[in-house]
Amino acid sequence: MKYSELAKLYEELGKTAKRLEKTDILSKFLKDISEEDAPSVIYMLQGKVFPPWSEKKIGMSSRLILKVIANSSGISQEKVESSWKKTGDLGKTAEEIMKTKKQSTLYSTTLTVKKVFENIKKLAELEGKGTVDKKVSLISELLTSAKPDEAKYIVNTILETLRVGVADGTMRDAISKAFNIDVEKIQHAYNVSNDFSQVLISAKKGKLSDLKVSLTKPLKCMLALKEDTIESAFERTGKPAQLEFKLDGFRLQIHKHNDQISLFTRRLENVTKQFAELVPIIKSHVNGEEFILDSEAVGYDPKTKKYLPFQNVSQRIRRKYDIEKIAAKIPIEINVFDIMFYNGKSMLNEPFKERRELIEKIIKPEKYKIVPAKKLVTSSEKDAKKFFKESLELGNEGLMFKKLDAPYKPGARVGYMIKYKNVMETLDLVITKADYGEGKRAAWLSSFTLSCRKEDSFVEIGKVGTGIKEKEGLTFKQLTKILKPLIEKEIGKTVILKPKIVVEIAYEEIQKSVNYNSGYALRFPRVKRQRLDKSSKDCDDIKKVEQLYKQQRGKK
Ligand code: AMP
Repeated sequence: MKYSELAKLYEELGKTAKRLEKTDILSKFLKDISEEDAPSVIYMLQGKVFPPWSEKKIGMSSRLILKVIANSSGISQEKVESSWKKTGDLGKTAEEIMKTKKQSTLYSTTLTVKKVFENIKKLAELEGKGTVDKKVSLISELLTSAKPDEAKYIVNTILETLRVGVADGTMRDAISKAFNIDVEKIQHAYNVSNDFSQVLISAKKGKLSDLKVSLTKPLKCMLALKEDTIESAFERTGKPAQLEFKLDGFRLQIHKHNDQISLFTRRLENVTKQFAELVPIIKSHVNGEEFILDSEAVGYDPKTKKYLPFQNVSQRIRRKYDIEKIAAKIPIEINVFDIMFYNGKSMLNEPFKERRELIEKIIKPEKYKIVPAKKLVTSSEKDAKKFFKESLELGNEGLMFKKLDAPYKPGARVGYMIKYKNVMETLDLVITKADYGEGKRAAWLSSFTLSCRKEDSFVEIGKVGTGIKEKEGLTFKQLTKILKPLIEKEIGKTVILKPKIVVEIAYEEIQKSVNYNSGYALRFPRVKRQRLDKSSKDCDDIKKVEQLYKQQRGKK
């Protein structure tokens, strides 16, 4: 396929903000894509050349691209730079510069999608001496052959700033429409294979059900629904259910294939290097040639052996250096709670009870290394309450309820897994700062800094934008109107406010934080309502925050 066809499609997609129209345009385009072109076209439509689980990054700087634009157009760097200042978008600049280029040197060869895809991929694969020169020549090769609009999209793809990129939902709907197949079926095929080009090809051949779990790629995790009472959790799962502690670590999908272990996060990033110390543990403690396990990786304090909150472990996920040092500081215990594949067989359609039995059979448990998640199979609400209390006292978030006869549904938020957490008392806090929004919210204050009392002054504890509505209830427009007369000072997009307006805030948890001068932050805060009956003198104080912090999850 010629790259110009893809550029034309980007152009069309860019002209509409309506999802239905985008789906229409895309579905027509997808009908004719060949098997050979599918991977490159699909990735590039999404503005990518690598899947999310790849460790490869394009990693090109705007500066270097600017140089290449200058070189391949014969126009001075100063001119390119001044155009960039005006457009604020290097892709757009590439387009403008290429338009001014002399006709005689234009379009030496016709670019194909595959050529563009391959060259951009190579940028991430080059290593060692002379790399920069090689990268420059790979990009030059594309830009010298590119028409102005093609240059724009090539540059934006390299910089990973392609705004017309197609989101997952639109891609799914477009494939569904192109081949007249149920959206649900397409979504399931995608959740299992995680690869729209495979979904496209299988849909075209009418062989969607052939798509299998792959050992070399992560699949989407099954997600949990939330219930606020033990009774309603049981209603979802039926009785008896398997209850497990809801541990506060991070989701870790473990693959073994050809004696190799790969580790993926819930967002499907490959974190095998970051958690290299887990590889030999998995190899020696899990029996099996091939498997995919679902687990929660929890950090603990090596001295006290107490579990640490996610906040502490999260630093390990992005860390690329001194891995051994940090592994010793924040070691991990893997709590395995599901299995999706075992020795050549997909386990997705096996009932949870049997998947759990298999987990217990193949894992040699060792505390602080790898264990099956602690479980309680019960029909008793009283026992569930006791188990919940025990979980909180150990510093966990609450409980998970699991339906014993349920299959594993990748990517779906279904009632096979229910989370039940401690519901925190709300806080009444005062708005002391706010920020103007972006796009359609540019005229409104859309993010609000919350503070609590500390003696005679106020200290900040978080920012909130959630819970305020676009249309009904307490709206951004309304709140902006109420707050505007209270503005004391404006700094850029931020306004400093007289502390007058009190709002009731719900949240998941209180955390220690260095980002706010109260020393605390709220996790997932949302506005419940304005407290018209309270003045800032009546809002909650730091002592109340401290007390709630200590009470939650059995922290003493
Ligand atoms: P949430 O992130 O609040 O939607 O809760 C779901 C997450 O809880 C999952 O993605 C897991 O990372 C985590 N989790 C902790 N313990 C368990 C468990 N025993 N079973 C399943 N998920 C768990």
